[in-house]
Order: sequence, then structure tokens, then C-alpha cells
Amino acid sequence: MTLDITTILTLTALNLFVVSAALPLVMGEVVSRSARLLQLSLLSQATAWACMVSAESLWDMPLSVLAIAMGSVANYLLYLALQGWLGPRPWRRLLQVACVLMPVGYALSFHHYPTRVGWANGWLALQFALVARAALWPVTPWGRRWRHLLAGCYLAVAVATLARGVLGAFFTELYPTFTTPHPVNLLAQVLVNIAMPLTTIAYLVAWRRESENLLLQQAHTDALTRLPNRRGLMHVAPQLLAQAQRQQWPLAVLMLDLDHFKRVNDVHGHEAGDRALALFADVIRSCLRDNDVAARIGGEEFVLLLPHTDAQGAALLDARLRSLLHTQSTRVLGWPLNYSAGLVLCTVTGDNPLEAALQQADQALYRAKANGRGQLCQAHAPTDVGQD
Ligand code: GH3
Ligand code: MG
Ligand code: MG
Repeated sequence: MTLDITTILTLTALNLFVVSAALPLVMGEVVSRSARLLQLSLLSQATAWACMVSAESLWDMPLSVLAIAMGSVANYLLYLALQGWLGPRPWRRLLQVACVLMPVGYALSFHHYPTRVGWANGWLALQFALVARAALWPVTPWGRRWRHLLAGCYLAVAVATLARGVLGAFFTELYPTFTTPHPVNLLAQVLVNIAMPLTTIAYLVAWRRESENLLLQQAHTDALTRLPNRRGLMHVAPQLLAQAQRQQWPLAVLMLDLDHFKRVNDVHGHEAGDRALALFADVIRSCLRDNDVAARIGGEEFVLLLPHTDAQGAALLDARLRSLLHTQSTRVLGWPLNYSAGLVLCTVTGDNPLEAALQQADQALYRAKANGRGQLCQAHAPTDVGQD
């Protein structure tokens, strides 16, 4: 069997065009920024290979330079897609620099084959390695297998590309043209073809993970206030409690319930009631610290989990929140809002679940209502709270 490099190259370009046309069709019109960047990256890759294949017979230098430019842009777009999925990744600036230096250096050295082949393949290999690194580190709980698959493919292609660059730059007589069927060149191109279906699988899994995360996020979030709902609270609370337990922090749980809210709806209408709830959530958000958690657990009921907070700290927060709510609701809605609150201080030993703390906070809240509303009541005894 003889492997013809031009045929493999043509197949690379053709396959990439098919994949970059098929993915948007499969993914549909409404996709995230990351998915869109990925689609553009594949299209750039396909264009790069098509330009490379046709350059020699059509318009050598401009098409070759365009191929190099599109190839580096494709890597940068993929890197941006990964950032969108996985959070900030290092070495972004270097990839940006590569997008400029790669085609410029390639164009300037175009008439000196060893330099241009070494230059382009060296930068490409570096870019592939950076994309592989971006898929792996920093580690996120965002699916492991597809990231490893993607990184494995990109690393393999990076090594093969580097080998091709070294061959062209330092052993030019063995690899005098882009289509010379030297084993290194053949292997590199075969690897690109093998990596293509594998990376496509990785992209599709990443996209599925993205959809799952979005659904999970929606299921855990209250649409009106954009705060976590009860399910969201139950999702994040165990982690916070475990941390508090490990590091022996005091933890305060506040349950808040807007006063006479039914009357608000009756007098001002349901829409105004909704606006009042959203405003209350905004005021809560503005009063919290980074590690505090707020959730809307029912109609006009909210829960705050406050690490590092004792009774005095909770009372201070309550006073600030109440005063800010009064000012803001009077200014924005035209009438004042107030709430009643139940406080429970958790000693984070023992093994009672969060539910126990919520129950005690609820009882304290009930007393606050019974005592005339618009006030904070503390549960009698501290409660032991461990992990669920
Ligand atoms: P209290 O001071 O004892 O808490 O009295 P209340 O009227 O606030 O309490 P009650 O439980 O009787 O009524 C709660 C009201 O909250 C009734 C319900 O219509 C309203 N509510 C619940 N969820 C929403 C919502 O999403 N939007 C609006 N506008 N109103 C809501
Ligand atoms: Mg109420
Ligand atoms: Mg209520």
C-alpha cells in the first residue's frame, strides 16, 4: 500500500469541511458563544487545509500565507471556546501573538524554504500544545474524558508537527517540498486525519455537557430573582457546611419572609409584587459578602447562609438589609417593604442536616411574625449542623 500525501491532504480538507458544515446543523441555531467559536474554528481549519492543498497549483504564496493565518486563528478560536466552557486559561497572550507572528514570519521567509517550514510548524506545534494544556489545566469539574481526549489528540499532532518542522528546517534534503512522502510527513498527516473524528467526538461531548450544565443551572435558579431556589440551596449548602465544619467557622442561618406580601399583590397588583421580590433579591445581593449564600426557597421566603457570622454579625446585617430595603423600595416602588426574620446559629459539629437548622430558623421566624413582624428573632439554642 502506498500512501499519497496529496490525497491525504485533500481528504483532511474535505473531511474538515464536512464536519464544519455538519456540526452547526446538528447543534441548531441557538448555541452558546463557545459552540459558535468552535464552529468557526473548524471552518478556519478546513479553509487552512484547503488553501494549503491548492496553493501550489493555484497561487502559491498568498494561499500558503492565508493557510498559515487561518490555521493559527483556528487554534486561537478553539482556545477561546475552551475558555468559555472551562473558565480562564493561561497563555492567551502567546496565542494572540502567534496569530500575528506566524503568518508575518512565514510570508517574510517564504522564499527560504527551511526557515518558513521550521517557523510555521514550530509555532503551530506550540499552539497545539497550548490548546492541549488549556483543555487540561486548570482542572475544572467539567467533564474529564472529553478534555483528555482533546488534549491527547492535540499533543500527538503537536509532536508530529514539530517533527515535520525540524525535518524541513534542518534536514531539508529529506523533506524538500510540502508533499514529499517522507514517513514523518505522512505520519503527521495521518495523525491529523485520525485526530479529526476523535476531536469531533470530544466537541460533541463538551457541547452535551454544556447543555446539561445549563439545564442544571436553570433547575437550580429562581427565574424571577436569579437567586438559587430551594434545590439550588440544597446543592451548594453541603459544600459550605462541610467547609465550615472542617475549618470550625461559626455559621448563621437567616430565614426572611416579606411582611404582608399578599396585601402588596392585592393593592399594587401581581406584577408590582414580582418587581418587589426582584428588588428584595437585589438588596440582599448588595449586602452579602463573597462566601455568603442567598436563596429564594418559597414565594416570598428567602434564606441566607452566612459563614464566619455570630449573632451580633447577623443582627448587624439584618439592620443594614432592613434599612436598605426600606430606602430602596420607597424610592423604586413607591411604598416601603419590610420583612420578618428568624436566625439560628449553627455550631458546626454533630451530624444533623441543614433541614434541622432551617426548621429552627422557621420557628424563630414564626415568633417574629407573632411578635408583630418587621423584626429579627433568634432561635433559643444553637443547633448542631453537619453534612447532609
Ligand atoms: P406575612 O406577613 O404573615 O408573611 O403575610 P403574607 O401576606 O406575606 O404571607 P402569605 O403567606 O399569606 O402570602 C404570601 C403571598 O406571596 C401570597 C402570594 O400570592 C405571594 N406570592 C408568592 N409568590 C409570589 C410571586 O412569585 N410573585 C408575586 N407577585 N407574589 C407571590
Ligand atoms: Mg410573608
Ligand atoms: Mg411566607
